[in-house]
Amino acid sequence: MSTSSVLSTEKTMEKSDLLKDMVAVVTGSGRGIGKAIATVLAQAGAKIVINDINVDLSKATAEEFKSQGFDAIDAPCNVTVSEQIEKMVETVMNKYGRIDILVNNAGITRDDLFMRMSEEHWQAVIDTNLTSAFKVTQPVLKIMSKQRRGRIINIASTSGVHGNPGQVNYAAAKAGLIGFTKTVALEYATRNITSNAVAPGFIDTDMTKALGEDKIKKVVERIPLGRMGLPEDIAQAVLFFAGPGSYVTGQVIEVSGGLYT
Ligand code: NDP
Repeated sequence: MSTSSVLSTEKTMEKSDLLKDMVAVVTGSGRGIGKAIATVLAQAGAKIVINDINVDLSKATAEEFKSQGFDAIDAPCNVTVSEQIEKMVETVMNKYGRIDILVNNAGITRDDLFMRMSEEHWQAVIDTNLTSAFKVTQPVLKIMSKQRRGRIINIASTSGVHGNPGQVNYAAAKAGLIGFTKTVALEYATRNITSNAVAPGFIDTDMTKALGEDKIKKVVERIPLGRMGLPEDIAQAVLFFAGPGSYVTGQVIEVSGGLYT
């Protein structure tokens, strides 16, 4: 796998000012795709709010960003719990006084074939991947509405576009997130707020590592571009939607190396 495009906070990166003075909240950004998104937005000049359910990881990741010269804070919370979300938003507003970009990235999988799927696993995946976006976006949209400026970017999945055997809960949640994205786009366009989704294919993170080498090899054989995606591939698509001049709303972009399921 080529790693030439890997961007890491471990390397000192030059900043651009595309997102200067903008504040970006990225949920589930302690690691994986969320961390890569936070990195790319920070490199574009945004102030970054690291949110993760894991308090220590949130803090450590925010410290890592600060040590690279980025303006960042940690605001950990469980994105399924409204009271914790309120606290997170309060922390951000106390520190920065605005939110320009929200990336609903936190997500989990609990895979099983449909007939074996427990109600518990169904509900956990719907709560974390879909209801969380409703709960986090509502207070943030109030702030963006007053600002008359905002960018909502939801991390969906190709599973939500095409379906995927063994992921009925996840595919349903991500398909719901796409409907959510398009509806928010229509309701908030007049307030200069865009809402778009990125649908990753098969990306190299802890989430997919858990599948094991054999399964990974089989999926990679089906990817036209011949490799797993990198978290940074997803981050570049997010950056496109986050840009201040974007005239795109209600859209879903698949970042999958050509993989269709
Ligand atoms: P990871 O599991 O690597 O990272 C997800 C992060 O989200 C973890 O740090 C996790 O914390 C955090 N998180 C989980 N639940 C919550 C919660 N309730 N509140 C706050 N944070 C939470 O996943 P990826 O980086 O791979 O995935 C990121 C997003 O991309 C997800 O929405 C996923 O569905 C989506 N995606 C990923 C694909 C892939 O191939 N990897 C493909 C398609 C979509 P912790 O684990 O510490 O509890």
